[in-house]
Amino acid sequence: MPIDRDVLEAVREMEESDLRRLFMLTRARLESVGHEFPDLGPDVKIRKKMVRCGKVSCQACPHGPYVYAYWSEDGRQRSKYLGRDHDVPEMDDEER
Ligand SMILES: [Zn+2]
Repeated sequence: MPIDRDVLEAVREMEESDLRRLFMLTRARLESVGHEFPDLGPDVKIRKKMVRCGKVSCQACPHGPYVYAYWSEDGRQRSKYLGRDHDVPEMDDEER
């Protein structure tokens, strides 16, 4: 099935931050079906996290799960929020 022209156009116009997110999502999906990308940049780990909002009166805590990508950059641990659980495929959800 060919990729919709609108989708391709949207990708061309995306901000760098959105492209990075799309890239991680794409990579996570491909890795979940067995593809490996040994040469693609830092070692990105996908983790699900339940998040507490900190509001004393909140009845719904913890919220989520939300999905984060973690990687090392210049010796520092970096992370990026990728989206709600349903945005990404099932991955290991070990605590960190
Ligand atoms: Zn809450």
